[in-house]
Amino acid sequence: MKALVYHGPGARSWETVPDPGIAAPTDIVMRVDAVTICGTDLHILKGDVPEVQPGTILGHEAVGTVVNTGGAVTTLKGGDRVLASCITSCGRCPACREGRYGLCSGGGGWILGHLIDGVQAEYARIPFADTSAYRIPAGLTDEQVLFLADILPTSFEVGVLAGRLRPGDTVAIVGAGPIGLAAVMTANLFTPSRIIVVDPDQGRVDRALGCGATDSVTETGEAARDRVLSLTRGVGVDLAIEAVGVPETFELCTDIVRAGGHVANVGVHGKPATLHLERLWIKDVTITTGLVDTNTTPRLMQLIEAGKLDPAVFTTHRFSLDEAMDAYDAFADAAMSGAFKVVLEGEKHRQLVPADPAVLGAADHRGR
Ligand SMILES: [Zn+2]
Ligand SMILES: [Zn+2]
Repeated sequence: MKALVYHGPGARSWETVPDPGIAAPTDIVMRVDAVTICGTDLHILKGDVPEVQPGTILGHEAVGTVVNTGGAVTTLKGGDRVLASCITSCGRCPACREGRYGLCSGGGGWILGHLIDGVQAEYARIPFADTSAYRIPAGLTDEQVLFLADILPTSFEVGVLAGRLRPGDTVAIVGAGPIGLAAVMTANLFTPSRIIVVDPDQGRVDRALGCGATDSVTETGEAARDRVLSLTRGVGVDLAIEAVGVPETFELCTDIVRAGGHVANVGVHGKPATLHLERLWIKDVTITTGLVDTNTTPRLMQLIEAGKLDPAVFTTHRFSLDEAMDAYDAFADAAMSGAFKVVLEGEKHRQLVPADPAVLGAADHRGR
């Protein structure tokens, strides 16, 4: 099959690799029908995520059709359409038993396109499939559920839920990229009185206003802080969601949160940020961080099915899977291409040769 392979910082190629097979009885193999590229994939390509080994297939957000199941898989069968989530859950470790799949210590967590081969490929092996893949209701398209693989649960869980948003609150969302936009959409589920979106990119701000943000701030730094404070009569916001991942935006969040409020950090940081405790110590502020658990994925899928969430707004560019290199170029140079989220569509009618039974037997001996 063909796949998008990481070859060290700055190097990627769409190339022929061996077809994935069932390696453990809890695995499935799926044909990839739709897959997207994440900002995190760009971080990997910059060399910011050194644990990703050269030779790894990238990608952790996809929708596919099951073509093969391991002997221990009981809830999925060939032909089922499934969402492969960015987070894998073993379902049995202490963290998974608490629904904290992002912290899985039994071989899951964020592994796809990170510690094992990912889903930017024609086929992909999904470990612990019973507890990690989600069957898709018949009425929903691949693209409608694709963004449940990462950005929607990430913004909802790490931003909105961790930030304890309540009806009537004022929320500021700093950063209007895909994560910020998903935060706007999922914050609206709680009927905040205002959603102030902060981003210097007018196009991104306009998209956020179209998705339910009520106010926009395109200034940066102290001017952005002053604008948010003036919009809240000098009080600050109940919840500030950081959706960028650089020191300036984190520090802005701590400047615009009201006394007693929450800062929920969603951004992926590569550098230290300053925590101004000399100002914050007296403000009774709660700061939360984290990796998504994806324990809200079924609930968010219900909301899409019910028409209460419409993720169609994320997609700006569509490519076929074998145009993956062009899709990366467009996504990486968003200023030029105007790309927000790109969708790669697979060939829906290819079939995989069933895995060699000897491979299955070998996996069984590992006792998983
Ligand atoms: Zn992602
Ligand atoms: Zn686990």
